[in-house]
Amino acid sequence: MEGSLSLLDAEAVADLVLLDPLTEESLVQTLQERFRRRDIYTYIGNVVISVNPYQSLPIYTPEKVEEYRNCSFFAVKPHIYAIADDAYRSLRDRDRDQCILITGESGAGKTEASKLVMSYVAAVSSKGEEVNKVKEQLLQSNPVLEAFGNAKTVRNDNSSRFGKYMDIEFDFKGDPLGGVISNYLLEKSRIVRHVKGERNFHIFYQLLAGASPQLLQQLKLRQDCGHYGYLNHEGSSLPAMDDAANFHAMQDAMRIIGFSPAEVTELLQVTAVVLKLGNVQLSSSFQASGMEACSISEPQELREICELIGLDPGTLERALCSRTVKARDETVLTTLTVPQGYYGRDALAKNIYSRLFDWLVKRINASIQVKSDKQRKVMGVLDIYGFEIFQDNGFEQFIINYCNEKLQQIFILMTLKEEQEEYVREGIQWTPVEFFDNSIICNLIENNTTGILAMLDEECLRPGVVNEDTFLTKLNQLLATHKHYESKETQNARRVTDASLPLRCFRIHHYAGKVTYNVTGFIEKNNDLLFRDLSQAMWAARHALLRSLFPEGDPQKASLKLPPTAGFQFKSSVAMLMRNLYSKNPNYIRCIKPNDTKSAMVFTPELVLAQVRYLGLLENVRVRRAGYAFRQLYGPFLQRYKMLNAQTWPHWDCGDREGTEVLLAGLEFPAEELAFGHTKIFIRSPRTLFDLERRRQER
Ligand code: ADP
Ligand code: MG
Repeated sequence: MEGSLSLLDAEAVADLVLLDPLTEESLVQTLQERFRRRDIYTYIGNVVISVNPYQSLPIYTPEKVEEYRNCSFFAVKPHIYAIADDAYRSLRDRDRDQCILITGESGAGKTEASKLVMSYVAAVSSKGEEVNKVKEQLLQSNPVLEAFGNAKTVRNDNSSRFGKYMDIEFDFKGDPLGGVISNYLLEKSRIVRHVKGERNFHIFYQLLAGASPQLLQQLKLRQDCGHYGYLNHEGSSLPAMDDAANFHAMQDAMRIIGFSPAEVTELLQVTAVVLKLGNVQLSSSFQASGMEACSISEPQELREICELIGLDPGTLERALCSRTVKARDETVLTTLTVPQGYYGRDALAKNIYSRLFDWLVKRINASIQVKSDKQRKVMGVLDIYGFEIFQDNGFEQFIINYCNEKLQQIFILMTLKEEQEEYVREGIQWTPVEFFDNSIICNLIENNTTGILAMLDEECLRPGVVNEDTFLTKLNQLLATHKHYESKETQNARRVTDASLPLRCFRIHHYAGKVTYNVTGFIEKNNDLLFRDLSQAMWAARHALLRSLFPEGDPQKASLKLPPTAGFQFKSSVAMLMRNLYSKNPNYIRCIKPNDTKSAMVFTPELVLAQVRYLGLLENVRVRRAGYAFRQLYGPFLQRYKMLNAQTWPHWDCGDREGTEVLLAGLEFPAEELAFGHTKIFIRSPRTLFDLERRRQER
């Protein structure tokens, strides 16, 4: 991909590689100026930066698709379509598997961008009946996953609460054959708790608002959101969102994907069970022995749940209110306290829902996955949470930021690799680039023995009393000398004067900045355990889908081995993702949220600056122009500048490369500013290019 010649505009360069001088301020200013002109897209070489316009712009019409289709990249304004087109053509014509990595903070426009890429590819590939069916199925996976995986948050009314990677597979002609979706880390805590002004997952509101009275009756639900403990009563309907209409769209989507009516019913039954679990009330009573125990205070809801899933209410009640403990050869039934009972109930609801979501993804894959073993080409699209720095950062932020650290690592590696390959291809000398290598931070988190995740696992497996304090103490001892780790002790030792760490916290110096993590909840979230009595009760249900979600509930299979921890699972899936991405040609879309109020045309520079840092954009420009900021095929270059030299003007007939050499020789630039590759001219600094452009305009 080449720099854009027609877009040289020193005030608001379309490609930040040409930014001069290059500073954080000038970078933000350029984005701001372009945003003011409603140019929401800007390049850094082949990376697109997208600033959320929060208004519908007329730039996604079929005419626009035509404009970008087979466009020559540098002849048109920066656009997500240009990247999509470039990736698609490279896949189709040059057999190179592609991946499109979309990152940015919540509300920055990642999911919209991923849908734009998908719809662009759908629009430009061929239109046979079979192909159209595949495309439709791929596109319809969005409303289904969004219903179950998205929610209103303070930052975004339609916020994805899971990470998503989708491989779209094509045949040799470039027609879509199908796809495979992977999901990462659903925010399941939202099932039982969400902050004021936010909502639970869309599906619950959609179901209550959109289901017919018969369906509600079948699911034993009431229409009124306020009736359900897990749904916050205020802010339950969104002005901009028609829950009922979305419910019907979601049902249509399921039908198109190939869900049978029976499967949809089963899915909704399990969804209803989650909602109803939140209304199961416990109270304390005293047993004959005088021991305090918890019991179900109002059995109606429990009975209905059991009718829905085909389970004896006594079994569920026992599982919710007591626990079997194995001690040597004996098994003892111990009663739970009311808080323990609620804890188990909520854990059950979260587990059912997150497993249901995994099932949903698998079920969609079963429909869209390519069945033939034809030769395929692949385009992967990654829509995943960006770097998070909140007031309070817990286990989730730790995991998410680890993932972003890995994405940054692979980004630098791949950009450098790509640059290097181009230089080799063009026969130009490569000089090594200085860049910040974040492996040291990745290692701090993921190392198999001394990494934070490994130490957390060790702590979770240790018999006896485990808690976060012993975990933190261990970290503080073992990582005391690590440059990117900060604790109270290291603060004292290093005489750190800035913000002192609060209790139970450690701090990591990420590539994007320092983040303070509170260890409270790390062990519980990493263990992610469900009392065995509850999984056994679920497995005992006659409901086929629900039962299949709890294979470990089969007493025959109950092994003593603990399931892998949440951290371990995430680390493995991130490693797999990285291997997958690394085997493909990368394309990047970096999304930026211009303001905190979801307003059109408001650009808050401080907010953008923070994101520019998290996204590592300055480093990106530096790496990208480490050697030469600009490169261009000889033909178009000569065409544009031949008037600057009497020898090449008006005609030059002896080869583009020779012409370019003659042309530039006459302009007396320092030799190190230029390099002549096999097919392209390389120019080291933006200044030289602007100089050329100025002379051209003065003609
Ligand atoms: P993210 O996935 O990064 O959290 P979304 O893609 O859901 O963010 O975008 C949040 C909201 O911003 C969308 O619901 C939409 O209203 C608006 N938005 C995002 N991208 C665009 C765009 N290209 N044009 C218009 N509005 C957009
Ligand atoms: Mg999203």
